[in-house]
Amino acid sequence: MNIRYKLALFVTTLALCTHALAAEVNVYSARKEALIKPLLDQFSSESGIQVNLVTGKADALLKRLTSEGANSPADLFITTDAGRLHRAKEADVLQPVSSDILSAAIPSHYRDPEGFWHGLSVRARVVTYIKDRIDPQQLSTYEALTDPQWKGRICIRGSGNIYNQSLVASLIAANGEAATQEWADGFVKNFARDPKGGDRDQVKAAAAGVCDLAIINTYYLGAMINSKDEGERAAASKVALFWPNQANRGTHVNVSGAGVTRSAKNKAAAIQLLEFLVNEKSQAWYASVNHEYPVRPGVAWSETLKQWGTFKADTLNLSQLGKNNPTAVRLMDKAGWK
Ligand code: FE
Repeated sequence: MNIRYKLALFVTTLALCTHALAAEVNVYSARKEALIKPLLDQFSSESGIQVNLVTGKADALLKRLTSEGANSPADLFITTDAGRLHRAKEADVLQPVSSDILSAAIPSHYRDPEGFWHGLSVRARVVTYIKDRIDPQQLSTYEALTDPQWKGRICIRGSGNIYNQSLVASLIAANGEAATQEWADGFVKNFARDPKGGDRDQVKAAAAGVCDLAIINTYYLGAMINSKDEGERAAASKVALFWPNQANRGTHVNVSGAGVTRSAKNKAAAIQLLEFLVNEKSQAWYASVNHEYPVRPGVAWSETLKQWGTFKADTLNLSQLGKNNPTAVRLMDKAGWK
């Protein structure tokens, strides 16, 4: 072997080693940087795998993934709502993953049956009520919100919002399409105003006397209770949380979650990152930073969540929310839900 060849071999080997050391995983995240970055940094320091993070709006990121197709640099897509995760699966930008660690950590109803996406944190869509004006005895189920006693007293955001679409999709799963159409017709009649704003705005409207009930995701109330904004804290202090449907199927829940992309060039590292995100330590941090529930059973809840007590959650497989989404959208539109 001449010296030049030896040198070439040495350089090649060195390059391969460097490449192996520079293992990386590219993440597209619809979650804000503050809700995920510290955890990704922790993963990097433990595994030596560099994480490149791109954050953006959920729908825009999915559009980007779809248009990039096989050329997408993304390995892992993180987003919120099973309805959106299902959309990503349908758009063919995800691939199935089978991992004993993920299956053991995540209850089966919080992941896609075919492994295309996995839930990472849980949120419930609940009724909040003005404590001064409402006796919680008046409340029971989502279905009962069509009662004429609530005429002009309910605040909820628009039908274009995926959280509402998923709530209606869960009602379709429980009661069928015809009964849910009837429900939506009655529910819309009880709105205090044309839907506008996000979930926090519904609580603010209720606190300002516009309505008596506000339908919101639990973490928004958590955020308002712990807000730096005095107005948000004041509004939150006027409402209490009610867990609907405790006597039957349980409260409607949803997840934030993630899936390995179809285009992943770093599939093994992406799976390793997913598995890291469901370990006990990660789960405790990831859930509490946004006032969510850990997807992994047995992980401690934040102080805010403990105050609301335990509740029975619907165990419907969340992939059903995605499957029922088109019907839900059509039905809400027919009901005149703006
Ligand atoms: Fe949200």
